[in-house]
Amino acid sequence: MGMKLYDETIRACRKLLEEAGARALPLGDGGWPDVSDRSMILRSDMAYELGSGQLPAVGATIVTANEALVPADALSLIGSDLPEIRQDSPYARVALVRVREDTLGEGEKLYRAIRELEYTRYHFYPEGFMMRVSAANQKESVRIGREALSRGLDFTKTGNRMISAFHKNPAVKAVSLTYVTEQEFDYRALLGYVKEAEEITKTIDHILKNVMMDCTACSLQKVCDEVEGLRELHFSNKE
Ligand code: SF4
Repeated sequence: MGMKLYDETIRACRKLLEEAGARALPLGDGGWPDVSDRSMILRSDMAYELGSGQLPAVGATIVTANEALVPADALSLIGSDLPEIRQDSPYARVALVRVREDTLGEGEKLYRAIRELEYTRYHFYPEGFMMRVSAANQKESVRIGREALSRGLDFTKTGNRMISAFHKNPAVKAVSLTYVTEQEFDYRALLGYVKEAEEITKTIDHILKNVMMDCTACSLQKVCDEVEGLRELHFSNKE
């Protein structure tokens, strides 16, 4: 039941990505090396940065149990691939992750499972692809190493790496991963959906921590009015 929570947001996200003309990249091992988590790409060793400065830099991981929304693993790209890019560019990374509903459960377990899947981004380190997350403004940017780029780094390689990082979690059934570098893409709309998902996650957390169940006096009423399943979660979590 609980995992229906993000389905409307995922539908909207998918529509936005499909209408922007996402093209499929091949799935497979890619055969690209990982580096240790402490490996840095210094400014002097970098070819360019995705999502630097004021450029859009959106990272999203949204979870569902609905097979129709994420039928199988898929990797897509909207815009130029890494070898074609010559300068700092806007960036988005959207992972829609389908999990086995029964392994997540409800309540506390559900919240922890959602956060754990989001943290997958900190557990993969393709060589030449250094992700940086700014906690202050929620931006996810990536430094691209010059050396790795000259040896053939592209989104097919990093994307397949990230998909297998998700699959290390036994609850994960399928991952639809999309990268965006297109200048004209509506990053603002995407960011709106990401914020919506984050609000739902925060509401789940609140429901778990707070026993108050007077909807008329609750500050989260608006979120609960709009998102199917949150009220049920709060009231079933009581027992
Ligand atoms: S179900 Fe009611 S009390 Fe619980 S978080 Fe939603 S609005 Fe607040």
